[in-house]
Amino acid sequence: MYKKIIAFSMAAMLMGSSCTTVPITGRSQLNLVSDAQMQQMSYDAYDQFMKEHKVSRDAQATAMVKRTGQRIQRAVEQYMAQNNMSDQLQGYQWEFNLIEDPQVNAWAMAGGKTVVYTGILPVAKNETGLAVVMGHEIAHAIAKHGNERMSQQLAQQFGGQTLSALAGAQPGVAQNLIMTVYGVGSGLGLLKYGRTQESEADRLGLIFMAMAGYNPQEAIPFWERMEAKSGGQAPPEFLSTHPSAGTRQADLKKHMPEAMQYYKK
Ligand SMILES: [Zn+2]
Repeated sequence: MYKKIIAFSMAAMLMGSSCTTVPITGRSQLNLVSDAQMQQMSYDAYDQFMKEHKVSRDAQATAMVKRTGQRIQRAVEQYMAQNNMSDQLQGYQWEFNLIEDPQVNAWAMAGGKTVVYTGILPVAKNETGLAVVMGHEIAHAIAKHGNERMSQQLAQQFGGQTLSALAGAQPGVAQNLIMTVYGVGSGLGLLKYGRTQESEADRLGLIFMAMAGYNPQEAIPFWERMEAKSGGQAPPEFLSTHPSAGTRQADLKKHMPEAMQYYKK
């Protein structure tokens, strides 16, 4: 534990620390990588990913993903404007895509690049279920969880190197790291979002979907379907350190009254 703290402080000194506050929860976090750099890395990784994957040919489902994403985007922009945090969305180039892939997965990167896999659509079941997924993923991006994970990895595993130094010396490693911190792909199971980040994404996601006009109460049956689908073996982004089903349901119920205040039918 102490070693970790020392590593963090040293890394912070080396790189010029930046302490940021997560919207809504107010938790402070250490982000060692600038937003601009995180976004640039994300855009590169996203372009690469989109070159290697096929977008869905299902026009209706694709339209639903784009519409849901845009509604949540507007909700986020509204929330940030109301709370004098619009500067945190600087440089965002939102984009929402549905890709043809049977994995039950979805993710959103710093800068707003958001991908939904066709494999998650049966679990989402309808547009409101999809809003649960996309609200949750976009919340990870807004709360800068990718940056936080990246900062932890740089401090703990790469001797406090800056991301640009790492990208210069080992571009493949840096690229892998960025994909992994966002839960892209599978088989790199080490760096998934932590429990605090998961619960934060759930809470923010409920509020964003509610502001976008989707009933946040649908998150409860959605996560039940996800649990039933995964049978304890959850898919990439939703795997690993995820709270147990019971903990997640209790958390969702705890945050529901707050989210319902934002929900206008
Ligand atoms: Zn998550």
